[in-house]
Amino acid sequence: MHLEEKMKKILILIKFLCLIQISVPLQGAEKEVNIYSARKEELILPLLKMFKKETGIGYKLITGKADGLLKRLEIEGKLSPADVFITVDAGRLQRAKEAGVLQPVNNIELTNRIPKNLRDNENFWFGLSQRSRTIIYNKNEVVKGILSTYEDLANPKWSGQLCIRSSTSIYNQSLVASMIVANGIMKTQKWAEGLVKNFARPPGGGDTDLLKATAAGQCNIALANTYYLGRMKNSESDQIRKAAENLEVFWPNQGENDRGAHVNVSGAGITKYAKNIESGIALLEYLVKDESQKWYAEVNNEYPVVNGVMMSDTLRGFGKFKADTLNLSKLGEMNAEAVKLMDRAGWK
Ligand code: FE
Repeated sequence: MHLEEKMKKILILIKFLCLIQISVPLQGAEKEVNIYSARKEELILPLLKMFKKETGIGYKLITGKADGLLKRLEIEGKLSPADVFITVDAGRLQRAKEAGVLQPVNNIELTNRIPKNLRDNENFWFGLSQRSRTIIYNKNEVVKGILSTYEDLANPKWSGQLCIRSSTSIYNQSLVASMIVANGIMKTQKWAEGLVKNFARPPGGGDTDLLKATAAGQCNIALANTYYLGRMKNSESDQIRKAAENLEVFWPNQGENDRGAHVNVSGAGITKYAKNIESGIALLEYLVKDESQKWYAEVNNEYPVVNGVMMSDTLRGFGKFKADTLNLSKLGEMNAEAVKLMDRAGWK
């Protein structure tokens, strides 16, 4: 490797190290597990504390941005201290698999508890919580009865009414990937072109921005992940809670022969060069226990992945729905196609 190239990598590494906060591990444990988490500390730390209490396994948690942590794992290679990588979106989990930073895990507890479609088909990664990217609309502006499917959002009747995140959002890429699997590239391309024509404003912002704009009547319909609405409904701000009252979830593609609403996961895998594989697997097993599932899902208004685990009141308020049972590995496999397609359709 050229010296210049080496220096560049070291500089990138230093940059990531500076961005990332490290929480101090609990002292005195013989066994330990090192975690790189793209999820915020508050979404995992309390569970780690309970995990340590129950198993005696200590932990070190490093949190950071998803893409940064993945890059860091790649750069560190064999020298990486990480045993477990936690991130969001099957598309990203698949990227980690393809980048060669994960290893397959054959563990009966995990494969029994986590439905097949919510984990990698070779068990390089496992879904830990679920969310749906669905239609969320302003109930003062849209009559529920005229909503139907994701496909229908390309109909000119929605001209100037949609608030959509940019095509760089992995969430949108995964949704489009699911549509490619369902309808093929040609049809999905046509759909994306129609969808773009219906945008109320240039795509961009996060899901919360889209929902706030929809609540304020700047657009009538948003495509957003369910937990963002959950967060607004449970916000400490009266103003945000009030805004959320204008919003309603619509579950698309619920017809008898239709595939159901698009779902995605947050998930985790054991890293390729994990030094504490057993402890890492013990942590994953812990995260799919009923109690952990309930907590992990509830704290971010997500759905558990394990069947039969109670969901929060907020989610029950969104109503029952049929979820697309597509194997989420497909979202990653179709990611490149989805990105190209959105680009061709002029989805910025
Ligand atoms: Fe998110």
